[in-house]
Amino acid sequence: MVYKFQKNQSFARGGELMRQKKYSALWIFLVFFSLIWFSPALGAEAKNVILLIGDGMGPESVGLAIYYNRFMNGMDKRLNMERLMAAGNTGYCLTYQYGTVVTDSASAATALASGVKTRDAIIGKDHDGRSMKTITDVARQLGKSAGLISNTRMTHATPAAFYAHIIHRDMENEIAAQLIERGDLNVAFSGGARHFIPAGMKVEEHPDLKGIAKEAGWGASTRKDSRDLLGEAKSKRYAIVTNDRELSALEAKNTDKVLGLFAASGFPSAIDRQPHHQTGVPTLSQLTEKALEILKKNSQGFFLMVEGGQIDWVAHGNDVASVLHEMLEFDQAIGVAMAFAESNADTLLIVTADHDTGGLAIAYSNYQPPAPVKLPSGETWRTKYNFGEKGIFEKMAKQKKSFLRMVMDSKGNPADLKRDVEDNSGFSLTEEQAVYVLSKEPEAGYPPTKDYSESYVYGTNNPVARMGRLLGKETNTAWAVGTHTHTPVMVIAKGPLAENFRGLLDNVDIPQIIARGWGTNLPAPK
Ligand SMILES: [Zn+2]
Repeated sequence: MVYKFQKNQSFARGGELMRQKKYSALWIFLVFFSLIWFSPALGAEAKNVILLIGDGMGPESVGLAIYYNRFMNGMDKRLNMERLMAAGNTGYCLTYQYGTVVTDSASAATALASGVKTRDAIIGKDHDGRSMKTITDVARQLGKSAGLISNTRMTHATPAAFYAHIIHRDMENEIAAQLIERGDLNVAFSGGARHFIPAGMKVEEHPDLKGIAKEAGWGASTRKDSRDLLGEAKSKRYAIVTNDRELSALEAKNTDKVLGLFAASGFPSAIDRQPHHQTGVPTLSQLTEKALEILKKNSQGFFLMVEGGQIDWVAHGNDVASVLHEMLEFDQAIGVAMAFAESNADTLLIVTADHDTGGLAIAYSNYQPPAPVKLPSGETWRTKYNFGEKGIFEKMAKQKKSFLRMVMDSKGNPADLKRDVEDNSGFSLTEEQAVYVLSKEPEAGYPPTKDYSESYVYGTNNPVARMGRLLGKETNTAWAVGTHTHTPVMVIAKGPLAENFRGLLDNVDIPQIIARGWGTNLPAPK
């Protein structure tokens, strides 16, 4: 625009300038110079912003996925997030919440959405309880489209912080109502259908939710009232989709608003959604692809948040192979966003996490150290320790089911758990170990979760975390806790404004940078 104005101005003054050829040449020079000099700035408008959040994705999980990919697929292989690091800017991000070192997902998401620190469990409000404007609100006010995707529930902490304002994250029925009442999001893809249907009804009974497969997750409404939020959504011109077939059949050109609810609660874990477990639930990358088709129709641009929300869930359960699957699923979605940004240069791509979960460590141990090796030099190399060879990843790859699913399917029967572990992983449990995993009481002689019992807030006899700890030595894996840690997370950005995402950031900086790039400011009261 600046260039065009100068050019027109020079034409308007044409008569005079024509008589002064020296000035005319100078004008041409200045115009071309300014074109070259300012063109990066002119191109720096982040018309579209895609924010990808790995919930619980500490740098340890990023490292796990990177090493897995290299050891299993070749040392020259790179994940999408590595390619993004190479092409863009990488920084670290502090995640502390209002007044405390460690953060909760609700407060972290509020920081990422509204640029303000708040207390744990609070969604979209500051520490004094004032409702805050979100980056989604800013986008809508600027005439941009907005979309939210999560493989948890649409009402879960991370997506909720981008549209709702509520004192506690557990009030998911109210959060669902807020989503439909505002009715201005163009794309909302997630689970959590149970919060959208009238009390007393089952998800599988609702006429608009017949497409949800049993394997995807059925269940009863959690509402206390008779509101049918799906009916309300339809009256606000939302299309409803419930499985991968309906998603792919949805025509972007005819869709301006879509609500996709693919499970009663969260999606099944990525490891439980592999091709051999047919669930009908779309992948994060399929959801991202469809969302982009719909959102890109707006000439004003869009804001899209994509959450890989279950990295956190399986890390709470100390299940390393399941973390790996969640990471790889998230990385695929990053790949879709990168492909879009490559052909739409006015797109800012940001990948980050809300916090670390579990304090994962791949560490060396004295369990099964490798055999001595005769070297070409004639010497013999010996080691006392096991530093983790490719075999640890081969064992992770053999796991075909989450520990949580194995425990649930065993229905408390140790023999069934033992068999399930043998059938669906490269691990084995003795009968005694299976009894220990499922027992209600901690038992002596087993890797305890009671050493940090205060940090296993969902129970020191959590059978899933027990399995994680018991089998950890097989994959050189150790876990610090069953909760979140303080560890700074990575932030990777590419596109306009990406140069702001270098060095050490604070999570509140992220929406503030986006808002400033759009000519406005956060935090701001709602
Ligand atoms: Zn968590």
